[in-house]
Amino acid sequence: MGSASSAYRVIYLDVDGRIQKVVFSRFCSPCDIKELFCSAVGVPRNTNLSLLDSSGAMVSIDPTMPYNTERSPYRVVPVTGGQLAVEGMKVVEIEKCRSEIQKLREEIASQNNRTFLEDSKKLIPHRDVPLYPKYHLSKDTIEALRLPTFDAWQWEPNEMLSCLEHMYHDLGLVKDFNINPITLKRWLLCIRDNYRNNPFHNFRHCFCVTQMMYSMIHLCSLQEKVTQLDILILMTAAVCHDLDHPGFNNTYQVNARTALAVRYNDLSPLENHHCAVAFQIFSQPDCNIFSNFHPEAFKQIRQGTITLILATDMARHGEIISSFNQKVDSFDYTDAEHITCLKMVLIKCCDISNEVRPLEVAEPWVDCLLEEYFTQSDREKAEGLPVAPFMDREKVTKPSAQIGFITLVLIPMFETVMKLFPQIEQTMVQPLRESRDQYEERKQTDEAVNKVQKKKTENLTMERQK
Ligand code: 5GP
Ligand code: MN
Repeated sequence: MGSASSAYRVIYLDVDGRIQKVVFSRFCSPCDIKELFCSAVGVPRNTNLSLLDSSGAMVSIDPTMPYNTERSPYRVVPVTGGQLAVEGMKVVEIEKCRSEIQKLREEIASQNNRTFLEDSKKLIPHRDVPLYPKYHLSKDTIEALRLPTFDAWQWEPNEMLSCLEHMYHDLGLVKDFNINPITLKRWLLCIRDNYRNNPFHNFRHCFCVTQMMYSMIHLCSLQEKVTQLDILILMTAAVCHDLDHPGFNNTYQVNARTALAVRYNDLSPLENHHCAVAFQIFSQPDCNIFSNFHPEAFKQIRQGTITLILATDMARHGEIISSFNQKVDSFDYTDAEHITCLKMVLIKCCDISNEVRPLEVAEPWVDCLLEEYFTQSDREKAEGLPVAPFMDREKVTKPSAQIGFITLVLIPMFETVMKLFPQIEQTMVQPLRESRDQYEERKQTDEAVNKVQKKKTENLTMERQK
């Protein structure tokens, strides 16, 4: 189905404020496509047309031309005399600037052997640290930070950086591993720079996942049960787990055959990318918090972090949970395989833990997630790609999105972890049950309102027909 639909291209044109949709096969010649555009615009077949994108750059007309959406149509400019000269010059200048910027980027990338970050400038470390003012965390904040009830919405990025820094110190990681405190600051700044401003997969999400990990470490007294190296891996994997997330999920990457999907052969392309970006950051001495490590310890950190970040691909959820289920009843803290599996489940719990938090903290995250989903599904529709029903704005509601996820994914997973750490029932599992009940109630209210509305419309129609 995917290949059949992607044989077609859909292009939107802005013809004097009117949006025209043009569909053509990717096997059409440029001449055929130009003729199609002429007929959409309503000018003779052989009229010379130019297309400009939203930045004013010219788009060449051919079967591989970039897709656009209804919201970003190409402006159609008839090629005639003087106006063309002015528009054309603008376009040439813009194109020149673009190619120079691209050249500069490539130069920087090749100097640093960085081949695949879209924006390599983000990787340049902050030398003049501390760039962010030292936020003094109050005693109350320090205490609140240890609980799943912590409200991350109250904090700016700089404050979140200070909180993350505090966690590394407080867990004894800086002392035990002889981490340079300035390198820790620079690393965290670089991490923040390498999260994008997506509605959901952004630096605040990174912070929440890490803060939940920090809470679970305390709540489950993990420092008494696993090594400090394991704690370092858990925290660092949480910080890095969604680095440079583009806001479009693995399914989109694979179906749209993006550069990431091609690079990673469709195998967890996003998670592989997050991990690769993490280690590109560590490859810079200024940001390498592990620089004092023995090579063997670095190897373990690297392997452990990769395993945990790759475990966050939800496509592997069933496999990971069933492996943990087999171990949990006779869990052995001296068995390396058991510990690795536990760490994988812990990062998964933290990654999708918003609903564990109080309602007023959790609910805005659902809006953010749906906004990201809808942007993706709108693009999939525009590009003729398959659309998952749970991402479709015509089919999803907040209660429907959450009831299934809490009931089928979150509660079973946290209840399994509860077998090992009964203390999470009160603070983590109970809030999940309450959230599920609250969304069930909202669903029923929504349905009742819809029923009344439907009845009213029917009555109105019947009255009109009389
Ligand atoms: P990620 O690694 O992408 O942050 O998290 C895994 C995936 O779990 C998300 O992309 C999203 O699809 C799903 N997810 C996480 N939290 C929620 C939630 O609260 N509700 C729903 N419906 N899905 C969620
Ligand atoms: Mn995540």
